Amino acid sequence: MKTGTGKVIPYEYIPDEGSEIETVDGRQYLIANDAMYTFFKRTKGELSPFFLALRDEKRLLGCKCVECGLVRVPPFLTHCPDCNFASTKLLEVEQVGILNSTAPITYFATSLFQHMAPYGRGRVIFRGADTALSVNLYTTTGILVPGILNKGTEVKLIFRTNRIGEMTDVFCVPTSELSRDQVEKRGLEESEIDWESPVEPNVLDASAEDTSVYREALKEIKSIVEEMNRNDRARKDIAGWRRDIAVKARGGQFALIIDERGIRIEEKELSAPDFIMVSQDLRVLLDGLAYRGAITDSVINKRLWISKNPEFTTIFKLDRMARSVARSKKD
Ligand SMILES: [Zn+2]
Repeated sequence: MKTGTGKVIPYEYIPDEGSEIETVDGRQYLIANDAMYTFFKRTKGELSPFFLALRDEKRLLGCKCVECGLVRVPPFLTHCPDCNFASTKLLEVEQVGILNSTAPITYFATSLFQHMAPYGRGRVIFRGADTALSVNLYTTTGILVPGILNKGTEVKLIFRTNRIGEMTDVFCVPTSELSRDQVEKRGLEESEIDWESPVEPNVLDASAEDTSVYREALKEIKSIVEEMNRNDRARKDIAGWRRDIAVKARGGQFALIIDERGIRIEEKELSAPDFIMVSQDLRVLLDGLAYRGAITDSVINKRLWISKNPEFTTIFKLDRMARSVARSKKD
């Protein structure tokens, strides 16, 4: 048995013991959380060799029709329907391919896929294959935004370190982000890729006017952040979360710190931030924190750049804090 890193049902989805009262038509009813255990094993059937090769050998298999020679990846047919059901043979294809359509990006995934977002989902024709494989796509250059994974972009298959024999054992990144050796290596693992040094957008030189816009925006951000700290709902949105964020904009930079004390601004340069946020205009972040449009939208629209893809979660939390403060004002 080869196991993954977690449980089939993540711990946080398991409800607490306890009960509650629901009132319907003036009568009280007692409701309690309970569970039904329905785990099951599922075979990959004829696709077993494909998943075993991915999991144990870091190889990508397809099947080739002995009559027409068409190579299908994944090898989902043992007999070719175009050739009177002639048999097909398994063969290995290369791990570099071309996106055959521009990949849509999922930013707001369901809870099941939240931990992988943002991710692109695209169809890749690998060298040696005639059909496209559906696969998740990422970038090493920071947050995944439109324009990185287009129709015709050459991509490389990357293997997860912990593989259990699922399609999510692999994903693709653009070959332009890798060295030649990495592109040529078969079975390249995620740990061999540099995720830590994406290219930061340049902040333009600030005029005196830019600097005063920056100072004014920072002043407003400071007062919003203080308001967030006084707000119980907003505090709950970041419960248990710790991040040191370096914020850079035209006119200056500061540290946005989230920890058990809440959220705060420190006017200093962080030597080892968890991630970096860059925007030419600090008012983009200000508007988000003030609940005038979401910060997540600014990230997607490329008005605000973040250095690490998974930190979209932190951006999401900042939006929720802004919403919590706005809702409290309404109450
Ligand atoms: Zn055929």
